[in-house]
Amino acid sequence: MSAKIIDGRACASSIREEVADHVVRLKVGQAITPGLAVVLVGEDPASEVYVRNKSRQTVEVGMNSFEHKLPAETSEGELVALIGQLNTDPAVHGILVQLPLPDHFDSDFVIGAIDPTKDVDGFHVSNVGLLWTGQKALVPCTPLGCLILLRYQLGDLSGLNAVVVGRSNIVGKPMAQLLLADNCTVTLAHSRTRDLAAVCRSAEILVVAVGRPQMIPGDWVRPGATVIDVGINRIVAPNGVGKPRLVGDVNFPSAFEIAGAITPVPGGVGPMTIACLLANTVTACCRVNGLPEPEGLTACRPERRVARG
Ligand code: NDP
Repeated sequence: MSAKIIDGRACASSIREEVADHVVRLKVGQAITPGLAVVLVGEDPASEVYVRNKSRQTVEVGMNSFEHKLPAETSEGELVALIGQLNTDPAVHGILVQLPLPDHFDSDFVIGAIDPTKDVDGFHVSNVGLLWTGQKALVPCTPLGCLILLRYQLGDLSGLNAVVVGRSNIVGKPMAQLLLADNCTVTLAHSRTRDLAAVCRSAEILVVAVGRPQMIPGDWVRPGATVIDVGINRIVAPNGVGKPRLVGDVNFPSAFEIAGAITPVPGGVGPMTIACLLANTVTACCRVNGLPEPEGLTACRPERRVARG
Protein backbone atom coordinates (compact mmCIF):
# COMPACT_ATOMS: atom_id res chain seq x y z
CA MET A 1 0.00 0.00 0.00
CA SER A 2 1.33 3.47 -0.78
CA ALA A 3 1.81 6.24 1.75
CA LYS A 4 -0.35 9.25 2.37
CA ILE A 5 1.40 12.41 1.15
CA ILE A 6 1.64 15.02 3.91
CA ASP A 7 0.80 18.34 2.25
CA GLY A 8 3.15 20.95 3.71
CA ARG A 9 1.90 23.63 1.32
CA ALA A 10 -1.69 23.33 2.57
CA CYS A 11 -0.63 23.25 6.21
CA ALA A 12 1.66 26.28 5.73
CA SER A 13 -1.14 28.14 4.01
CA SER A 14 -3.49 27.63 6.97
CA ILE A 15 -0.76 28.84 9.37
CA ARG A 16 -0.27 31.95 7.23
CA GLU A 17 -4.02 32.61 7.30
CA GLU A 18 -4.01 32.36 11.05
CA VAL A 19 -1.01 34.69 11.28
CA ALA A 20 -2.73 37.19 8.96
CA ASP A 21 -5.89 37.12 11.12
CA HIS A 22 -3.86 37.79 14.22
CA VAL A 23 -1.95 40.62 12.53
CA VAL A 24 -5.29 42.30 11.73
CA ARG A 25 -6.35 41.97 15.38
CA LEU A 26 -3.05 43.53 16.52
CA LYS A 27 -3.34 46.40 14.04
CA VAL A 28 -6.98 47.18 14.75
CA GLY A 29 -7.10 46.44 18.48
CA GLN A 30 -3.64 47.58 19.57
CA ALA A 31 -2.33 49.76 16.72
CA ILE A 32 0.69 47.45 16.53
CA THR A 33 2.09 46.09 13.27
CA PRO A 34 4.49 43.19 13.82
CA GLY A 35 7.79 43.71 11.99
CA LEU A 36 10.43 41.25 10.82
CA ALA A 37 13.98 42.37 9.95
CA VAL A 38 15.99 40.07 7.70
CA VAL A 39 19.72 40.64 7.34
CA LEU A 40 21.60 39.22 4.37
CA VAL A 41 25.38 39.53 4.07
CA GLY A 42 26.98 38.78 0.71
CA GLU A 43 25.50 37.52 -2.54
CA ASP A 44 24.83 33.82 -2.12
CA PRO A 45 22.12 33.19 -4.78
CA ALA A 46 20.22 30.58 -2.70
CA SER A 47 20.19 32.92 0.32
CA GLU A 48 18.94 35.78 -1.87
CA VAL A 49 15.99 33.62 -2.98
CA TYR A 50 15.19 32.64 0.64
CA VAL A 51 15.33 36.26 1.80
CA ARG A 52 13.11 37.40 -1.08
CA ASN A 53 10.53 34.72 -0.23
CA LYS A 54 10.59 35.59 3.46
CA SER A 55 10.13 39.31 2.78
CA ARG A 56 7.30 38.71 0.29
CA GLN A 57 5.38 36.41 2.64
CA THR A 58 5.93 38.80 5.57
CA VAL A 59 4.22 41.58 3.61
CA GLU A 60 1.48 39.22 2.37
CA VAL A 61 0.35 38.48 5.94
CA GLY A 62 0.21 42.22 6.70
CA MET A 63 3.44 42.59 8.70
CA ASN A 64 6.25 45.07 8.11
CA SER A 65 9.35 43.69 6.40
CA PHE A 66 12.72 45.34 6.89
CA GLU A 67 15.38 44.00 4.53
CA HIS A 68 19.04 44.79 5.18
CA LYS A 69 21.45 43.72 2.45
CA LEU A 70 25.11 44.18 3.33
CA PRO A 71 28.15 43.60 1.11
CA ALA A 72 30.26 40.46 1.70
CA GLU A 73 33.15 42.67 2.95
CA THR A 74 31.07 43.92 5.90
CA SER A 75 33.00 43.55 9.15
CA GLU A 76 31.71 41.62 12.13
CA GLY A 77 31.64 44.88 14.11
CA GLU A 78 29.44 46.55 11.48
CA LEU A 79 27.03 43.62 11.43
CA VAL A 80 26.79 43.49 15.22
CA ALA A 81 26.21 47.27 15.28
CA LEU A 82 23.26 46.85 12.89
CA ILE A 83 21.87 44.05 15.07
CA GLY A 84 22.21 46.38 18.07
CA GLN A 85 20.07 49.00 16.28
CA LEU A 86 17.44 46.40 15.38
CA ASN A 87 17.42 45.14 18.98
CA THR A 88 16.34 48.57 20.20
CA ASP A 89 13.99 49.43 17.32
CA PRO A 90 10.41 49.12 18.64
CA ALA A 91 9.06 48.53 15.12
CA VAL A 92 11.15 45.35 14.83
CA HIS A 93 9.78 42.30 16.68
CA GLY A 94 11.80 39.62 14.93
CA ILE A 95 15.39 39.58 13.66
CA LEU A 96 16.74 36.95 11.31
CA VAL A 97 20.34 36.84 10.11
CA GLN A 98 20.42 34.66 7.00
CA LEU A 99 22.91 31.81 7.32
CA PRO A 100 25.46 30.81 6.20
CA LEU A 101 27.43 34.01 6.74
CA PRO A 102 30.64 34.59 4.75
CA ASP A 103 33.65 32.76 6.21
CA HIS A 104 35.16 35.69 8.13
CA PHE A 105 32.15 35.81 10.51
CA ASP A 106 31.78 33.85 13.73
CA SER A 107 28.10 32.87 13.33
CA ASP A 108 27.69 31.95 17.01
CA PHE A 109 28.97 35.38 18.03
CA VAL A 110 26.68 37.16 15.57
CA ILE A 111 23.59 35.15 16.61
CA GLY A 112 24.53 35.80 20.23
CA ALA A 113 24.21 39.53 19.57
CA ILE A 114 20.49 39.23 18.76
CA ASP A 115 18.08 40.10 21.58
CA PRO A 116 16.72 36.61 22.49
CA THR A 117 13.16 37.98 22.62
CA LYS A 118 13.53 38.94 18.93
CA ASP A 119 15.41 35.77 17.91
CA VAL A 120 12.65 34.36 15.68
CA ASP A 121 15.01 31.69 14.28
CA GLY A 122 15.40 30.32 17.82
CA PHE A 123 19.19 29.91 17.44
CA HIS A 124 20.32 32.11 20.36
CA VAL A 125 21.73 30.02 23.23
CA SER A 126 19.09 31.47 25.55
CA ASN A 127 16.33 30.06 23.39
CA VAL A 128 18.21 26.78 22.98
CA GLY A 129 18.46 26.47 26.77
CA LEU A 130 14.82 27.40 27.30
CA LEU A 131 13.74 24.79 24.77
CA TRP A 132 15.89 22.07 26.37
CA THR A 133 14.48 22.84 29.80
CA GLY A 134 10.84 22.84 28.60
CA GLN A 135 10.36 26.59 29.07
CA LYS A 136 8.87 29.24 26.83
CA ALA A 137 11.33 29.62 23.96
CA LEU A 138 11.31 30.87 20.43
CA VAL A 139 11.57 27.53 18.61
CA PRO A 140 13.64 27.00 15.42
CA CYS A 141 11.31 27.22 12.45
CA THR A 142 12.14 24.06 10.49
CA PRO A 143 11.82 21.58 13.38
CA LEU A 144 8.72 23.44 14.60
CA GLY A 145 7.23 22.98 11.13
CA CYS A 146 8.09 19.26 11.22
CA LEU A 147 6.43 18.90 14.63
CA ILE A 148 3.25 20.58 13.39
CA LEU A 149 3.13 18.22 10.39
CA LEU A 150 3.62 15.22 12.69
CA ARG A 151 0.85 16.33 15.05
CA TYR A 152 -1.39 17.02 12.07
CA GLN A 153 -0.75 13.52 10.76
CA LEU A 154 -0.62 11.51 14.00
CA GLY A 155 -2.31 13.56 16.72
CA ASP A 156 -0.81 12.64 20.08
CA LEU A 157 2.81 11.52 19.64
CA SER A 158 3.18 10.10 23.16
CA GLY A 159 5.14 6.87 23.41
CA LEU A 160 6.09 6.66 19.73
CA ASN A 161 9.62 5.65 18.74
CA ALA A 162 11.15 8.57 16.88
CA VAL A 163 14.47 8.56 15.04
CA VAL A 164 16.05 11.83 13.89
CA VAL A 165 18.91 11.40 11.42
CA GLY A 166 21.22 14.44 11.55
CA ARG A 167 22.31 16.38 14.63
CA SER A 168 22.78 19.95 13.44
CA ASN A 169 21.98 22.81 15.81
CA ILE A 170 19.35 24.20 13.45
CA VAL A 171 17.42 21.02 12.62
CA GLY A 172 18.41 17.70 14.20
CA LYS A 173 19.03 18.66 17.84
CA PRO A 174 15.97 20.92 18.30
CA MET A 175 13.86 18.35 16.43
CA ALA A 176 14.92 15.65 18.90
CA GLN A 177 14.11 17.96 21.80
CA LEU A 178 10.65 18.80 20.43
CA LEU A 179 9.84 15.12 19.99
CA LEU A 180 11.07 14.38 23.50
CA ALA A 181 8.87 17.18 24.84
CA ASP A 182 5.99 15.48 23.03
CA ASN A 183 6.79 12.28 24.93
CA CYS A 184 8.35 10.30 22.10
CA THR A 185 11.22 7.91 22.77
CA VAL A 186 13.91 9.59 20.71
CA THR A 187 17.08 8.37 19.01
CA LEU A 188 19.35 11.03 17.50
CA ALA A 189 21.44 9.41 14.76
CA HIS A 190 24.42 10.88 12.88
CA SER A 191 27.36 9.96 10.68
CA ARG A 192 28.97 7.78 13.37
CA THR A 193 25.80 5.80 14.16
CA ARG A 194 26.33 2.07 13.82
CA ASP A 195 23.89 0.15 11.62
CA LEU A 196 21.88 3.22 10.66
CA ALA A 197 19.56 1.02 8.57
CA ALA A 198 18.45 -0.94 11.66
CA VAL A 199 18.07 2.27 13.69
CA CYS A 200 15.86 3.77 10.96
CA ARG A 201 13.78 0.57 10.72
CA SER A 202 12.93 0.91 14.43
CA ALA A 203 11.28 4.31 13.84
CA GLU A 204 7.57 4.91 13.92
CA ILE A 205 8.51 8.52 13.21
CA LEU A 206 11.54 9.04 10.97
CA VAL A 207 12.86 12.60 10.50
CA VAL A 208 15.79 12.91 8.12
CA ALA A 209 18.03 16.00 7.90
CA VAL A 210 21.42 15.02 6.52
CA GLY A 211 21.81 16.98 3.29
CA ARG A 212 22.57 13.88 1.17
CA PRO A 213 20.34 13.33 -1.84
CA GLN A 214 18.03 10.30 -1.44
CA MET A 215 20.33 8.68 1.12
CA ILE A 216 17.59 6.77 2.96
CA PRO A 217 16.17 3.94 0.80
CA GLY A 218 12.69 2.55 1.22
CA ASP A 219 13.89 -0.67 2.83
CA TRP A 220 15.25 1.38 5.80
CA VAL A 221 11.69 2.56 6.50
CA ARG A 222 9.49 0.65 8.93
CA PRO A 223 6.19 -0.34 7.27
CA GLY A 224 3.54 2.26 8.15
CA ALA A 225 6.05 4.78 9.58
CA THR A 226 5.57 8.53 9.23
CA VAL A 227 8.54 9.98 7.34
CA ILE A 228 9.50 13.66 7.45
CA ASP A 229 12.12 14.52 4.85
CA VAL A 230 13.85 17.82 5.68
CA GLY A 231 16.51 17.57 2.99
CA ILE A 232 16.60 19.98 0.08
CA ASN A 233 19.12 18.89 -2.53
CA ARG A 234 19.45 20.16 -6.07
CA ILE A 235 20.52 17.43 -8.48
CA VAL A 236 21.15 17.31 -12.21
CA ALA A 237 20.23 14.40 -14.45
CA PRO A 238 23.06 11.82 -14.83
CA ASN A 239 23.62 12.86 -18.45
CA GLY A 240 23.76 16.52 -17.38
CA VAL A 241 20.81 17.38 -19.61
CA GLY A 242 17.69 19.20 -18.42
CA LYS A 243 16.98 21.48 -15.49
CA PRO A 244 18.26 20.57 -12.03
CA ARG A 245 15.51 19.22 -9.75
CA LEU A 246 15.00 19.19 -6.01
CA VAL A 247 15.09 15.93 -4.07
CA GLY A 248 15.07 15.17 -0.37
CA ASP A 249 17.34 13.03 1.80
CA VAL A 250 14.90 10.11 1.47
CA ASN A 251 14.49 8.04 -1.68
CA PHE A 252 10.89 9.08 -2.19
CA PRO A 253 9.68 6.50 -4.75
CA SER A 254 10.82 3.49 -2.66
CA ALA A 255 9.87 4.99 0.74
CA PHE A 256 6.43 5.93 -0.61
CA GLU A 257 5.66 2.21 -1.07
CA ILE A 258 6.50 1.34 2.55
CA ALA A 259 5.70 4.37 4.74
CA GLY A 260 2.28 5.18 6.16
CA ALA A 261 2.74 8.87 5.42
CA ILE A 262 5.56 10.92 3.94
CA THR A 263 6.41 14.54 3.13
CA PRO A 264 7.30 15.27 -0.51
CA VAL A 265 10.24 17.42 -1.64
CA PRO A 266 9.37 20.05 -2.67
CA GLY A 267 6.05 20.82 -0.97
CA GLY A 268 6.64 19.23 2.43
CA VAL A 269 8.80 20.77 5.14
CA GLY A 270 10.08 23.70 3.03
CA PRO A 271 6.88 25.80 3.03
CA MET A 272 6.42 25.15 6.76
CA THR A 273 9.72 26.82 7.62
CA ILE A 274 8.69 30.29 6.43
CA ALA A 275 5.16 29.91 7.82
CA CYS A 276 6.66 29.15 11.25
CA LEU A 277 8.98 32.14 10.93
CA LEU A 278 5.94 34.39 10.45
CA ALA A 279 4.18 32.69 13.37
CA ASN A 280 7.26 33.19 15.56
CA THR A 281 7.33 36.90 14.69
CA VAL A 282 3.71 37.34 15.78
CA THR A 283 4.44 35.34 18.95
CA ALA A 284 7.49 37.52 19.71
CA CYS A 285 5.43 40.67 19.12
CA CYS A 286 2.66 39.49 21.47
CA ARG A 287 5.13 38.47 24.19
CA VAL A 288 7.04 41.74 24.17
CA ASN A 289 3.78 43.70 24.36
CA GLY A 290 2.32 41.50 27.09
CA LEU A 291 -0.57 40.45 24.84
CA PRO A 292 -2.18 37.02 24.55
CA GLU A 293 -0.49 34.83 21.97
CA PRO A 294 -2.50 33.44 19.07
CA GLU A 295 -4.25 30.37 20.46
CA GLY A 296 -3.98 28.16 17.38
CA LEU A 297 -0.30 28.95 16.96
CA THR A 298 0.61 28.52 20.61
CA ALA A 299 -1.27 25.22 20.85
CA CYS A 300 1.64 23.62 19.04
CA ARG A 301 4.34 25.07 21.29
CA PRO A 302 6.38 22.51 23.15
CA GLU A 303 6.03 24.04 26.61
CA ARG A 304 2.28 23.40 26.37
CA ARG A 305 2.79 19.69 25.82
CA VAL A 306 5.36 18.60 28.37
CA ALA A 307 3.55 16.10 30.55
CA ARG A 308 5.01 16.00 34.03
CA GLY A 309 4.88 13.20 36.55
P1 NDP B 1 24.21 19.85 8.44
O1 NDP B 1 25.18 19.60 7.34
O2 NDP B 1 24.46 20.94 9.40
O3 NDP B 1 24.07 18.49 9.28
C1 NDP B 1 23.96 17.26 8.64
C2 NDP B 1 23.83 16.18 9.67
O4 NDP B 1 23.68 14.94 8.96
C3 NDP B 1 25.06 16.04 10.57
O5 NDP B 1 24.66 15.86 11.90
C4 NDP B 1 25.76 14.78 10.05
O6 NDP B 1 26.36 13.98 11.04
C5 NDP B 1 24.59 13.99 9.48
N1 NDP B 1 25.03 13.10 8.41
C6 NDP B 1 25.74 13.43 7.30
N2 NDP B 1 25.99 12.33 6.58
C7 NDP B 1 25.45 11.29 7.24
C8 NDP B 1 25.40 9.90 7.01
N3 NDP B 1 25.97 9.34 5.93
N4 NDP B 1 24.77 9.12 7.91
C9 NDP B 1 24.20 9.66 9.02
N5 NDP B 1 24.21 10.99 9.28
C10 NDP B 1 24.84 11.78 8.41
O7 NDP B 1 22.79 19.99 7.72
P2 NDP B 1 21.44 20.74 8.17
O8 NDP B 1 20.88 20.11 9.38
O9 NDP B 1 21.66 22.19 8.15
O10 NDP B 1 20.51 20.42 6.91
C11 NDP B 1 20.19 19.10 6.56
C12 NDP B 1 19.34 19.12 5.32
O11 NDP B 1 18.13 19.81 5.58
C13 NDP B 1 19.96 19.82 4.11
O12 NDP B 1 19.54 19.16 2.92
C14 NDP B 1 19.35 21.21 4.15
O13 NDP B 1 19.29 21.80 2.87
C15 NDP B 1 17.96 20.86 4.65
N6 NDP B 1 17.30 21.98 5.32
C16 NDP B 1 16.03 22.25 4.94
C17 NDP B 1 15.34 23.26 5.54
C18 NDP B 1 13.93 23.49 5.12
O14 NDP B 1 13.43 24.58 5.29
N7 NDP B 1 13.23 22.48 4.61
C19 NDP B 1 15.94 24.12 6.54
C20 NDP B 1 17.26 23.68 6.97
C21 NDP B 1 17.91 22.66 6.34
P3 NDP B 1 27.66 14.45 11.90
O15 NDP B 1 27.15 15.44 12.87
O16 NDP B 1 28.13 13.19 12.52
O17 NDP B 1 28.60 15.04 10.89
